[in-house]
Amino acid sequence: MCDFCNNIKDIKYIEEHHSWEQEPEIAQTGESTFGLWVECDDYYYSGIVMKINFCPMCGADLAQEAYLKRERANNPYYQKYGFDF
Ligand SMILES: [Zn+2]
Repeated sequence: MCDFCNNIKDIKYIEEHHSWEQEPEIAQTGESTFGLWVECDDYYYSGIVMKINFCPMCGADLAQEAYLKRERANNPYYQKYGFDF
């Protein structure tokens, strides 16, 4: 993962909190679906410009990373030691 895909936010959060100068970012639109969210001058054109499965910067598989994140959140070993066996 890179800085760009390490900070994925939920689409609802972005829609409620975005600003006019916001940089493009990856939005999670479902449990394992993602889109590239881009702010435009006209409010009505802002939003998901394309669905993506991989990070456009580093190529990480976003669904796989989201799955691992959920697994780690539910894994007591990972939470205690920072890694799994
Ligand atoms: Zn990335």
